[in-house]
Amino acid sequence: MPDAISLPPVAGPAPLIDPFQRAITYLRISVTDRCDLRCAYCMSETMQFLPKRDLLSLEELDRLCGVFIARGVRKLRITGGEPLVRRDIMHLFRRLSRHLDSGALKELTLTTNGTQLARFAPELAALGVKRINVSLDTLDAGKFKDITRRGDLPVVLGGIEAARAAGMQVKINAVALRDVNGDEIPDMIAWAHGLGMDLTLIEVMPLGEIEADRTDQFLPLSVVRQRLATRYTLTDLPDRTGGPARYVRVEETGGRLGFITPLTHNFCESCNRVRLTCTGQLYLCLGQEDSADLRAVLRATADDAVLARAVEEAISRKPKGHDFVIARQRPAAVPRHMSVTGG
Ligand code: SAM
Ligand code: SF4
Repeated sequence: MPDAISLPPVAGPAPLIDPFQRAITYLRISVTDRCDLRCAYCMSETMQFLPKRDLLSLEELDRLCGVFIARGVRKLRITGGEPLVRRDIMHLFRRLSRHLDSGALKELTLTTNGTQLARFAPELAALGVKRINVSLDTLDAGKFKDITRRGDLPVVLGGIEAARAAGMQVKINAVALRDVNGDEIPDMIAWAHGLGMDLTLIEVMPLGEIEADRTDQFLPLSVVRQRLATRYTLTDLPDRTGGPARYVRVEETGGRLGFITPLTHNFCESCNRVRLTCTGQLYLCLGQEDSADLRAVLRATADDAVLARAVEEAISRKPKGHDFVIARQRPAAVPRHMSVTGG
C-alpha cells in the first residue's frame, strides 16, 4: 500500500475583503424593528413598525448567519429594535451557538435595553454569550421614564444584575444627550466602574425621523471629554475593536471609558463590519444608503453558494466611509432609524 500522501491543508474560502482591503469579520443583525421602549432620540412616539411578514424567519436568519460565518465572519451581534422581545429569539441563539462550539465563531453577543434580561440571562450565558452591551442613558428613574417614554429603571438594573450573576461581562452604552444626562456622566462612571463594567458614551446620530430636532439633543463628546478631563486623569488606551469606539482608562476608578464619535471623529478606515436588517437588507455602512437585498436571494434559492456570491457582490460595494452631518435640516441625514439597521 502506498504511503499516505500528506497534502497541504485545504484552504477555506477566502475571507470577505472589501475594495479598501478591509476584512469583514463582524456582522450585526437586527432581528426585529420592534421595541418595548420608545427612546426619544431613537424612535418617534408613534413609530410605524414593519409588517411581520416582511421579517426574515429565525430559520432564514440562521441560514444567512451560517453563510457569513462560512465566509470568515467571526463575530455576530444580535440587536434590533429590542432583540429580546422577538418571539422565540432564544431559538436563534440556540442555533447560532453551534458555531461557537465548532470554533467557527469567536463571539456571539447582543445589544439590549435590558428589560428582558432577568428572564433570559441564564440561558444566554449557558449558550456561550460571554459579553453583552446594555443601553442605559441615566440612573435617574424619572429621567429614564422621560427618555424611554415608558421604561422602568429598576427592571433594567435588575436585568443587569441578572446578567452579571450569570457570569456575563456587561458593558453599558449611554447616548450623551445635551441638557438631559450631560451632568450625570461622572455618576454613571462611578456606578459602572464600581461594578467592574466598561461605560461607552455615544453621540446622537441623524438616523430616521423623530419628533425632536437632533441638533437640540446633540452633545459633542469632545466637549464631554474636556469636561471630564478637569476632574479625572484620562489615559488613552490602544484598544481598538474595528469600530468607532476609542477608549481611555479613568485612572481614579481604574475603569475603561469609551467614546463613540461618528460625528467628531472619523473611524471608517478600520471598519470591519456590515449590518443586516430584520428584512434581510445588508447595509454596508451605518451612514450610507447602499444595500443588498439578501432576502430575495435567500427566498429564490436553497443553494448557499448563490447566497454567498450575493454577499461577496455586496461587500465589493462597501463604501470607504460615511458622511453624517448633524445640521438643522430635514429629512434626517439617513432616513432609516437605528432600530431598523441595528445599533
Ligand atoms: N434596543 C437595544 C438597545 O437599546 O440597546 C438595541 C438596539 S438600539 C437601536 C442600539 C443602540 O443604538 C442603543 O445603545 C441606542 O442608545 C443607540 N441609538 C439609537 N438611536 C440612536 C441615534 N439616533 N444615535 C445614536 N445612538 C442611537
Ligand atoms: Fe428601543 Fe433600543 Fe431604540 Fe431605545 S434605543 S427605542 S431601547 S431600540
